[in-house]
Amino acid sequence: MTSPARPKRRLFSRLFLVLLIAATTLVAMRLGYLPQRYSPFPPISLDTQPSWFVDTRLAALRLDRPLCEAVLKQPHIDATAIADQPYKNGCGWQNAVSFSKAGGAKIGAEKLTCEMAAALALWIEHEVQPLAQSTFGSRVASIGDMGIYDCRNILGNPLMKNVRSQHATANAIDISGFTLDGGRQISILRDWTGKGPEAAFLKEVHRRACRYFRVALGPEYNAAHKNHFHFDRGAFSRCK
Ligand SMILES: [Zn+2]
Repeated sequence: MTSPARPKRRLFSRLFLVLLIAATTLVAMRLGYLPQRYSPFPPISLDTQPSWFVDTRLAALRLDRPLCEAVLKQPHIDATAIADQPYKNGCGWQNAVSFSKAGGAKIGAEKLTCEMAAALALWIEHEVQPLAQSTFGSRVASIGDMGIYDCRNILGNPLMKNVRSQHATANAIDISGFTLDGGRQISILRDWTGKGPEAAFLKEVHRRACRYFRVALGPEYNAAHKNHFHFDRGAFSRCK
């Protein structure tokens, strides 16, 4: 006679195994370790506004240089691959690109991870540009960036002062504002707290950035961000 506890135990161990495999797969997808050929989702494309599984499809670019080269294309971005810098003391980069234009706006980037470059191009082209057109009647000509790569720890948060910033791995960008065709300037420092269309525009582009970047921080996060948006695609998510 078999004990009734044994089939039950077997069922639980099988269920546990299935859950473990599912959880491991999800973590691997989030960290970009699942090659695109095993992904159930199609590669991300810069041609149209992606509507589903945006985060996972962007993460698939992280370690996949051929996929990166296939995705980062003109006219969406003028990206050129740059050599990896092996990580040392938590600083360096892997699968990064340089570019001077993304989503139809000038933005100088000497090195930014491919995954971030794709997120940035999607956000500018499919969110920032249409919103600028409908709000101001003109497109964004250039975007002010306050820095990408910087071998340093997180600033402005005493609890994180010993943790490397995503800037230390070229996986983050700080944006100070926008210049429209014709020269009108929209500054995060000056316009965020206003009541005009500039403030509404800034708040809306920040809100929409949260679809593409895992971390999207602005002036409401803390005083260190009063003059810029910080976007990154690290392991954690925060939109404020
Ligand atoms: Zn930053």
